[in-house]
Amino acid sequence: MPAMPPERPVRDLVLVGGGHSHIEVLRRFALGPEPGVRLTVVSTATLTPYSGMLPGYLAGHYRREDCHIDLEPLARSARARLIRAAATGLDPSARLLHCAGRPPLAYDVLSLDIGSTPRLDVIPGAREHALPVKPVDAFLDRWEAIEARLRRQPEGRILIAGGGAGGVELALSLRHRLRDLGHVRFVLAAGSQGLLPRHRAGVRARLARAMAEAGIDLIPAALAAVGADHAVLADGRRIAADAVLCAIDAAPAPWLRDSGLAIDERGFVAVDATLRSTSHPAVFAAGDCAAFTPRPLAKSGVYAVRQGPVLAANLRRALRTVPLRPYRPQRRFLTLISTGARHAVAARGIFAAEGDWVWRWKDRIDRRFMAMYRMPPMAAGAGMKMPAMRCGGCGAKLGPDLLRRVLSDLPRRNLPGMAVGLDQPDDAAVVALPPGRVLVTSVDFLPALVDDPYRFGRIVAHHALGDLYAMGAEPASALAIASLAPASEAAQEADLRALLAGADDVLAAAGAGLIGGHSGEGLELAFGLTVNGHADPGRLTVKGGLRRGDRLILTKPLGIGTLFAAAMRGAATGPWIDAALASLDQPGAAPARILRDHGAAGVTDVTGFGLIGHLLEMLRAAGLAATLSPAAVPALPGALDCLRAGHASSLAPANLHQGVAVENASAAPAERIALLYDPQTAGGFLAGVATEQVEACLAALRDAGCTAAVIGEVAAAQGSAAPIRLID
Ligand SMILES: Cc1cc2nc3c(=O)[nH]c(=O)nc-3n(C[C@H](O)[C@H](O)[C@H](O)COP(=O)(O)OP(=O)(O)OC[C@H]3O[C@@H](n4cnc5c(N)ncnc54)[C@H](O)[C@@H]3O)c2cc1C
Repeated sequence: MPAMPPERPVRDLVLVGGGHSHIEVLRRFALGPEPGVRLTVVSTATLTPYSGMLPGYLAGHYRREDCHIDLEPLARSARARLIRAAATGLDPSARLLHCAGRPPLAYDVLSLDIGSTPRLDVIPGAREHALPVKPVDAFLDRWEAIEARLRRQPEGRILIAGGGAGGVELALSLRHRLRDLGHVRFVLAAGSQGLLPRHRAGVRARLARAMAEAGIDLIPAALAAVGADHAVLADGRRIAADAVLCAIDAAPAPWLRDSGLAIDERGFVAVDATLRSTSHPAVFAAGDCAAFTPRPLAKSGVYAVRQGPVLAANLRRALRTVPLRPYRPQRRFLTLISTGARHAVAARGIFAAEGDWVWRWKDRIDRRFMAMYRMPPMAAGAGMKMPAMRCGGCGAKLGPDLLRRVLSDLPRRNLPGMAVGLDQPDDAAVVALPPGRVLVTSVDFLPALVDDPYRFGRIVAHHALGDLYAMGAEPASALAIASLAPASEAAQEADLRALLAGADDVLAAAGAGLIGGHSGEGLELAFGLTVNGHADPGRLTVKGGLRRGDRLILTKPLGIGTLFAAAMRGAATGPWIDAALASLDQPGAAPARILRDHGAAGVTDVTGFGLIGHLLEMLRAAGLAATLSPAAVPALPGALDCLRAGHASSLAPANLHQGVAVENASAAPAERIALLYDPQTAGGFLAGVATEQVEACLAALRDAGCTAAVIGEVAAAQGSAAPIRLID
């Protein structure tokens, strides 16, 4: 074997939170990628709210999507992995980030921009009864319910706590939103220092007047306690309230306190002038979650935004191990506070002004800001750069120590009938079949559909198990085959751990477990499973089991292929991909059982060949034909938009060649026809159910959370006519 040329190690930069600083880091990495660096962003939300436009949204001037930045296309354009998860802890000595419900992520350099939430813990009853303004999306969802209730009531009162710019804008925008509800009173409990204590008298006076004109009662007292239907203020007053909204002092995420990072007295991450942790050089923090030690900064989006460019530069510099740049916060900056209607107050130093023109000015600034983060779709084929040549063949296996560490951490399962498994690994696993049962076995191997290895492991397991469920088999065991992209050993170990944990979690829920496998290094992340199950040989559900007159039921919506093809080009929205991921993660056990319980004899899972391809296989095996209604076929959110825009998965053209077997292809709009050929991963089941069982079967499927629909009917084959006829 020739000597391996020296190569640059792949290093992991992990961004935690998709806040105002990190969106700028992503934008800058999209414009100029850092060679040899793998970028990952971990965020609880796919849509990041932009605080500058939230009051305008609440007042009714913007749509929800106008004031949210979509991390899905932004991360794609930065070639970053987007991991939808909540960070829950940090182990800086092992350089591991812990996340809820999945294995930890390894990093070389990590940056935190996870914002803050109102400090509810210091106010008795606030955690149970108050509504914090952050996380913003939870606030917006809960606000909708409050508003609906206020619209039904003869009278009502909203109490808002917090006299800073956030509380004032919140009160004025919500008052404007509910301007048709004169019976609803608004009270702002501004704190003992009154309105806008950090602003000059001129600004305070203008906003106090705006509040008075809007009919908002201003009380210079802090919130002291909250009950189910009232608030108690620090001056002892008890005020009945339908809702208590909190825009009070910011508090950090509680887990930062246990992270081992240096923190300030309130628990925010202490950073130096370069935004680097004062205790851990591999960790950076920006925005609300950081405590800038050179001088205290207010928790304001303006700082988070301004820190973005310096943070991006310093993350690169830290990875290149060159000196960092200082961040120099401005002493003064322009503040624009909207007053509900399209009117705003501007302040900078001693300057203050107000008017509708100030609102239009703010609107222009905000829209220009948002436009910077709407990235144009990426050219097809762009992707992560490969490091230099690596060995192939057996040399491409992962190191034995790495493998041993990962496998020893996998939970040991006592699988029925297992004689030799991962407990005492040998050349092969040995499993006994239960008496009277037959072995049902199937293999699937997929290149990564998503770049989050844990999620990908789950998806492959669902996809592979679908074959067993379709046959009526009970899953028992699985062998894994993993190909990892080149990276540092620590990153590969974390990826393999995540991949196997994802697969194992799904297998365990299905009553099965991993009994062996093989892993190696390849051009890109790819993963497969050989799944083994057993079944009663007399009760197998096969493709050819369709009967004339059966109604065709599909248990999941289609569109995975086109959505992920669009996502690769940065052309799919975050909420579309969120919905697709939820569908991919839906287990097949319950729908398969329900179909069998309702007498389905012909069942298959819809995967790579698309609905038409798999239906054709069933019809050919049964010697029958079918009618199919494209309008009745459920589509995932955004799937028809993606098809209309021409996004097709690489397998779609081959699937389309089956079009000769379809009659009346003009029965529906082109995108609805294209959906029928869209390749699926972990797709739903297609089954024939007798007419008298259909309603009960559909009801049971829907109760189990499936988006199931009747999409056609099985008929007798008509000589040389196409086996599938499309109907309106
Ligand atoms: C009503 C209102 C109006 C405001 N108006 C203005 C204004 O006009 N101008 C201004 O400068 N400031 C304003 N602010 C303040 C501003 O919202 C914050 O200072 C700003 O959002 C802080 O930005 P950030 O980047 O630190 O965090 P955020 O913008 O809060 O972003 C945090 C991100 O991290 C994610 N996240 C959180 N926890 C985790 C976790 N555990 N794991 C993974 N991801 C996580 C979140 O989903 C989110 O994407 C306003 C605040 C309010 C409440």
